[in-house]
Parts: sequence; structure tokens; C-alpha cells
Amino acid sequence: MAVAVVVDPRTAHLAGLQHTAWMLINLLARAAGVVRSVQLVCPPDVPLASRIVPLAPRDVPLRQALIEGARAIGAVPVSPASAAAPGQPVLVVGSAYGAAPSGARFVTGYGWWGGISSHPSPVPEAYAASLLPFGPYLAAALAAAEVFLAVRLPWYAAPSGAYGWDCWKQTMSCAPAPGAPAELAEVDLSGMALAGVGAVGSTWVHALWAAPGLTGTVILADADSKGITLTNLNRCTPFGRRHLGRPKAECAAHVAADCDIVWRPHHTRFEHLGITPGLLVSAVDTNRARAELQNRYPPRMLSASTLDLRAEALRVGPPGTGACLRCYNPPEALTGDDELRARVRAGGASAVRTLAAEAGVPQAEVRRWLERGECGEVGTRLLRSLRRQAEPAQPRFAVGFTSAAAGTLLAAETVKTLLKQPLRQTAPHHNNVTFQFLNPTARVNATSSLARDPQCPACAPTHPALGTWQRRAADASAHGRP
Ligand SMILES: [Zn+2]
Repeated sequence: MAVAVVVDPRTAHLAGLQHTAWMLINLLARAAGVVRSVQLVCPPDVPLASRIVPLAPRDVPLRQALIEGARAIGAVPVSPASAAAPGQPVLVVGSAYGAAPSGARFVTGYGWWGGISSHPSPVPEAYAASLLPFGPYLAAALAAAEVFLAVRLPWYAAPSGAYGWDCWKQTMSCAPAPGAPAELAEVDLSGMALAGVGAVGSTWVHALWAAPGLTGTVILADADSKGITLTNLNRCTPFGRRHLGRPKAECAAHVAADCDIVWRPHHTRFEHLGITPGLLVSAVDTNRARAELQNRYPPRMLSASTLDLRAEALRVGPPGTGACLRCYNPPEALTGDDELRARVRAGGASAVRTLAAEAGVPQAEVRRWLERGECGEVGTRLLRSLRRQAEPAQPRFAVGFTSAAAGTLLAAETVKTLLKQPLRQTAPHHNNVTFQFLNPTARVNATSSLARDPQCPACAPTHPALGTWQRRAADASAHGRP
């Protein structure tokens, strides 16, 4: 599908709509296999209102920044155009575009709210100057999801009406929640760590970079030994082609360096740092990794994850009553050594050759290990190689909008936690928010109270660490620090 993105000239100067335009272009430009090309209709001389496009120079006009950002991704071509082609699907970013073709969808985001509709909806005065990216990124995810559904799952009739989401109240809403702040001032993130800088974690960094008013030192940890791969470019919103092969934490810190947050990247698993931060943000993608993070029992934890077309964020706890990171997430079974060996044997000479090359072990030694199965140094190396190959497969849909939404919900909850705001004001005990894109207006897109998993050993009443965890959590809330 060739999609036109039209940035309304009358509202193109507003930061909220610039954030919306960038995240929409960002997601469409990564949707190879779904989107063939994007035609960008945008006035040429509008200055950037804030930190908008991490992948482009900061001193170029909006249109150039959007084009250069898309070029840095290097997947779906995005080119400037003077108008949408007749009959082309059109996404209008902005609220007052007069002559939109029929069937156009209006994508609007500002503050904490983002939505999509078939009619323009004006930006309220209170949010005209808001530089916050949370609502805008959600709006972009909703629009990118409509494109995806129309191409891949056309039998699910895309919603044609107006709908939206408010991250301040974490609720479905066609208008922003009253009382949500339009700006942030001196919110100190110190004492916080992010574990996992993949699709969700890197979008969390992207959103915090774009939100003025945040300060402090934040640890980023990611151990992926391959660094950024082509597959990651489908979903990791701040990364481009020039970052291929680089460690994710370091690269995110580099891309997002020009804000008041000081990033401390580590190319290792978080649990290997041996620290217990005041607020641990989990964006890891395996249950085994979640269990390792839970083992540190930090006073506060936030988590976000995706499953196919569903994004979810959780405020972990309260200890012993609300869900922990390990709850409902049994660690994945590891494939046994014998089974891995049997697979190589079944693969014959070519499997031996591949394994020998990958592990840097002579083929004769691989064959000897297959026969005798000794677990010396060579055996350990071979098993490590095989386990790497047997890692969990890619998700069924490599859909950037799901992880972008999860990372945005997580960033919003991070800031709200520091502002001592509950996940949902009208239901302060709710600790979970779920949004699935297959049917975006369904009632399952809501907050809930996720109690602890009765089967979970990590937060069981009998676990010796539970008391420590409860004490830490109580101290943290007494001192009002994350
Ligand atoms: Zn648990």
C-alpha cells in the first residue's frame, strides 16, 4: 500500500502534531512488507518545535527532518509530495485541514491524549504549547495499526469512527482527560534503571528524550550480543541503518544524548550489574529475564510487554498482593543438552560444519562431542552456540506500532509514578493497562487490578525475600522517591 501522510499547514508548528507526524512516519517507514511507499505532504519551512526526530539533525525544518529521519531507517521509501494521489489512503496529521479527501483519517495527538477520526478535531488551547510526546505517539500507533489491519487482516473491518486513548487516565477517550499537565518541570529520574533496550525499551528512551522537563541519571542495560540487527529496525523506533551491529543500550544513549537526562549504558544483563535501583523498568522480552529482574526485589518496578497485537504495561506489586514480574510468566523451558545434540546429529555433515564454524571448534572435535557427549570446555562452547540458535523465534507479526504503544505507555507510567499519580485516578488499585489493536475500541482495552499469581514462587508468602521487598517498597513510598 502507498500511503499519503498530510501534515496540516495550519497546525504543523505545534509540537504535539510534529511528534505525531514523526512517530507516524517512523512507524510507516519501518513497515516493510505492509507499506510500499509514503508520500509526505508537508509545508517545507516549518521550524521544529522541540526535540522531535532523533534520527535527523536538530536544526532543519520539520519536513526535512521527517524525510531525513525516514531515510536513516532505510526501509520503506518516504518522499515529499505536493498532494496525495487520487484514491490514495490519506492520513492527515492535524486538526483543521480543510480540503481533506473523503475517507481521510485525521490523526491528532497532544499532551497525554491521542486519537484518530474521520473529522478534524481542534487542539484545545491548554495543549497548544504542550511539548509532551505521549499522546502523539499513541495517536501514531493507532493510525499505523489501521494501515496494518487494512493490508494484512482486511476481514477485520477497520474502525471508521472516532476513538482515542488518554495516557494520563489510561482510558479510552475521544478527548483529553481534564487536569492532565501539559508540561513537566524538573522531574528527576535518578535512581532508575531500564532493563532491555529492544523495541519497547528503545521507544521508552525515545519518549523520555522527547519530553522536556526530565532530568537525572538513568542506567540502560541490554546484553544482546548481536547488537542492533536488521530485524530490530522493524520495531526499534530510535535506531537507523547506520546503527546496525552496535550495542543497543549504548546506541540509545548516543541517539538520545541531547536532553537533560544523563544515560549510563551497559552492554550486559541488568542482573549482572549487581545493583538494586529505586525504580526498575523492565522491557525485557523473555520470562526467564523477567524472573531474574524480580530476583533483585527493587522497591518499585514497572514493566511493559507485547504479544502479537497487544501492548501491556504493569506497575508491579504491591509486594505479596499485586502481580510481580515473575507472576503468570513461567520461565521458558530450556531445551535439554541431549536434545540439542540429537538435532545436530540429525542434521548430518552440514550441521556439524555449521556448528564448528559458529563455535570456532574443529569439526573433528564436534564429531567427538556428538559421540561421547562430554561436557568439557568444548562441549560448553558448542552448547552455548546451539542455545543461541534455538532462541525464541520472532513474533508472528513484527509490528512496530504494538511495541511503540507499549514503550509509550511505559514512559507515561514512569513519569506518572514520579509525579505520584496512580495508573488510573478513578481506580487507584489498578496496576495493569492493556491495549490490543485488533479491535481498538473493544472494552478489553482498559485498566485492571492484576493480583499476584497464586502459583508464583517469587512473591509467595513463604518466600524469604518477600519481607525485604515489602520493607523496601514501604520505605520508597514513605520517602516519596522512585
Ligand atoms: Zn509473583
